[in-house]
Amino acid sequence: MTTRFVAVLFCVVASGALHVSPSRSQDPSPRERSFLSSEARVAVFLNGEGGRYFAAARDDGAHHRSSVVWRQGLTHTDVPRFRGTRDEWQSLVRCVESSFAGLPIDVHERSTSREELTVVIGGNRDVLRTPYNGLAALTAGEVTDRGIAFVFSDRYTHLANLCISVAHEVGHLLGLEHGPDCADLMGNPSCDHGDLTRAFTAASRSILASSIERWRHRDRQYTPPGTPIVLRDMHGRCMDVDYAMLNDGARIASWGCHRGANQRWSLHDDGTIRTGANRCLDFSYYEDHRVHAWGCHGGPNQRWTLRPNGQIEGVDGRCLDLDRGEDVNGGRLIAWPCHDGANQRFRVTHL
Ligand SMILES: [Zn+2]
Repeated sequence: MTTRFVAVLFCVVASGALHVSPSRSQDPSPRERSFLSSEARVAVFLNGEGGRYFAAARDDGAHHRSSVVWRQGLTHTDVPRFRGTRDEWQSLVRCVESSFAGLPIDVHERSTSREELTVVIGGNRDVLRTPYNGLAALTAGEVTDRGIAFVFSDRYTHLANLCISVAHEVGHLLGLEHGPDCADLMGNPSCDHGDLTRAFTAASRSILASSIERWRHRDRQYTPPGTPIVLRDMHGRCMDVDYAMLNDGARIASWGCHRGANQRWSLHDDGTIRTGANRCLDFSYYEDHRVHAWGCHGGPNQRWTLRPNGQIEGVDGRCLDLDRGEDVNGGRLIAWPCHDGANQRFRVTHL
């Protein structure tokens, strides 16, 4: 894991032209917690009911705490409810939803989770004493945890424009910065904001996809390196150093989980997956594709990447693989060209 540059910027939607508007067979025990939530989707709550939002150093939508309010030098602000009709509101929700079609993002009219992103839609610029039509926290390339955006809807006469503004602010909450491409929803404020054909371009969607992938791994990112874990295969068996051998080349098999030291692994910043005394999960081309334990040296054949779908990818496009998906104690673990089979899906859980 690398330390990324994390800047909190504040978005600005152009003011001028925008006139108005716009499984596995065995569940982990309760003591284990899944690292990976490969199916997780980002929930976006569009709040048209208004409410009081308080200043805070970090956003927390569920508790109405907002870094934007703080940044604007206010202790709190009262946002009035969306003043359009029910039909207009529902059209807006559908329009925002369609802006994110194909991405793992769900748009809701009701609060559904503490982890959701919130867009408060209502009132005018006086709400946050700003010249802009919307404001959102932004951490480039990252989903702002529990982030809140505000979009001032009173000036909008065209729902399509309001929809663009809301999608734009959600884009910021999902890690997008402004760009030079005026066809993109994140186009610079100097772009023509009357252009209703703007949509997230392939470039923006690619950034969205990768920030969401990182968000899915956020638990892992916040887990100190070296935290003990087990790696479970498709049958719920654990990755096990054969006979608890400590020699270089000790084979690694799939075995019923027993919480022994030879099933205990840890993930490290250099991409290594370690067990015991400085032994690393290691792949050698010369041993029938098998993986084994070897003294850690951090070379390419000891570096692994956990994918959101549960794959553990190593060198040369090879993934950790339970050979032929065998459902037996002693099943061979190999590194095989990555494919989408269940025998290449692993669940990483805390001990
Ligand atoms: Zn912006």
